[in-house]
Amino acid sequence: MNDLTQHLQHHFGFAGFRPGQEEVIRAVLARRDVLTVMPTGQGKSLCYQLPATLLPGLTVVVSPLIALMQDQVESLRKRDIAAVAFHSGLPDDERERVIQALRLQRLKLLYLAPERMQHEGFLRLLRPCLVSLLVVDEAHCISQWGHNFRPDYMKLGHLRVELHRPPCLALTATATPRVQTDICERLSLQEPLRLITGFRRPNLGLSVRRCVSREEKFEALHTLLRSTESGSVIVYCATRRAVEEVAAALDRVPGRAAFYHAGLADEERSQVQDDFQRGAVRILVATNAFGMGIDKSDVRMVVHFDIPGSVEAYYQEAGRAGRDGRPARCVILFQERDIGTQEFFIQQAAKEPGEQGQAERMRALLKDMVRYASGMACRQLDILNYFGDTAESALGPCGQCDRCLDPPVLVEAKGGAEVECARAVLRGVSRLNGRFGVTTIVEMLRGSRAKAILARGLDRYPGYGDLRGWRQPAVTRIVRRLVASDHLRIDGTEYPVVEITATGMQMLAGSVPLVWQEERPVQKEQPREQ
Ligand code: ADP
Ligand code: ZN
Repeated sequence: MNDLTQHLQHHFGFAGFRPGQEEVIRAVLARRDVLTVMPTGQGKSLCYQLPATLLPGLTVVVSPLIALMQDQVESLRKRDIAAVAFHSGLPDDERERVIQALRLQRLKLLYLAPERMQHEGFLRLLRPCLVSLLVVDEAHCISQWGHNFRPDYMKLGHLRVELHRPPCLALTATATPRVQTDICERLSLQEPLRLITGFRRPNLGLSVRRCVSREEKFEALHTLLRSTESGSVIVYCATRRAVEEVAAALDRVPGRAAFYHAGLADEERSQVQDDFQRGAVRILVATNAFGMGIDKSDVRMVVHFDIPGSVEAYYQEAGRAGRDGRPARCVILFQERDIGTQEFFIQQAAKEPGEQGQAERMRALLKDMVRYASGMACRQLDILNYFGDTAESALGPCGQCDRCLDPPVLVEAKGGAEVECARAVLRGVSRLNGRFGVTTIVEMLRGSRAKAILARGLDRYPGYGDLRGWRQPAVTRIVRRLVASDHLRIDGTEYPVVEITATGMQMLAGSVPLVWQEERPVQKEQPREQ
């Protein structure tokens, strides 16, 4: 056993390190700058708490979560490690004690709320201290590309200079490569060790079910719930209205269902949360307001009834399934039209003052989310690549997502009505390229007299009515297959529009045959081992 492991057992009572911990700790002790991204619960705190006990002088930890700070300080004190938290909620006497301890240079760890950083008096107090390590917790808050940007965090670079540039350890549970780069730049990390690990969740079966209508989504949800007769389920919806609508539709499903969103009174919310936690409510339908601080390990399934706004948000919500390590499922019911709901949120965000660039960033994140939902490869690998967890992605596909279990089979279309329909769609899209969404294109081709069509003069377009007599879901399904086989793509910077790809153009020109995904009969859900 090496010295570090001995130290771990002696001071922290753990038998060994978890993946990534030792590497980070060794780099920190060697005074290297480090950025580490590990999911919640993996044990990030140890990565600085252990070095803090070995380094001379003080370790300063900047963290925005006061409750969490206090928990940590308490547990450190139980282990006889001198730690304090400094934040605006501190009573005067406690504050005096902190100041005194700092003066006497008796502390090993100082937790700091970000808004404390710019207080000149406080900096004066810190300046004479030997700070051996600056820790930035929730480091994604420094990036506008992160999901929780905090302007206070921009001052961290300055704090680091004030503290005579100690080595810096940045930690977060969620950072895409873009956010990682932002963190490194804003904190001026010098050739940092970047350790991203732990994002694989081997017990989760990830899948995406394409739906062409809301009715189909409800059907799919019922089938999913019937196949998960025992065990808790969370169903996420994008809006409060959808939450209530979905909850109301679940009254015939086994087990009690309830709903949760920010529009409920505080007592109602904590009641629902409590009922769910105890298992009195089996199915919880909720907006993304639900989940922070929930600690339920036996959630067997998380369904996204609507597509979420980013892969980070998705994986965080889906990741609430199967915390106990037993098999659990995460399903997205994806209908192209939902992109519009997210687009609405983006436009609302863009109206907020001082949010320049926010809409662009949200749109880019949404695009990544749609790309995930439309992906052909292993879902787990897609997620690992998204977060840049190269160590885990090197281990290969998961073997239990929908793409692994049921890989898409591409076949050459043999002609007939479907091919005629596909050609009409490609023709229609190529003429209106990049201007309209799926619904409008489909309705135009079907020769609809809907206001939205007539008002845009689409009834005078060549191609109008080419698919008269076709049913809307059938045409939408063909559009979806054309998207899946890369003949069309859904894109757009204002709202989602359909565009034709190079492959689509070739097919239309007749230079390549139509090769696309085999249309399968709607699968019946098999009950899974619980
Ligand atoms: P994070 O900050 O990554 O969300 P924490 O640092 O709060 O995670 O740690 C999560 C839990 O794991 C804590 O209860 C902690 O005591 C425990 N833990 C951390 N490292 C180890 C280890 N090497 N062995 C066993 N338990 C550990
Ligand atoms: Zn897979």
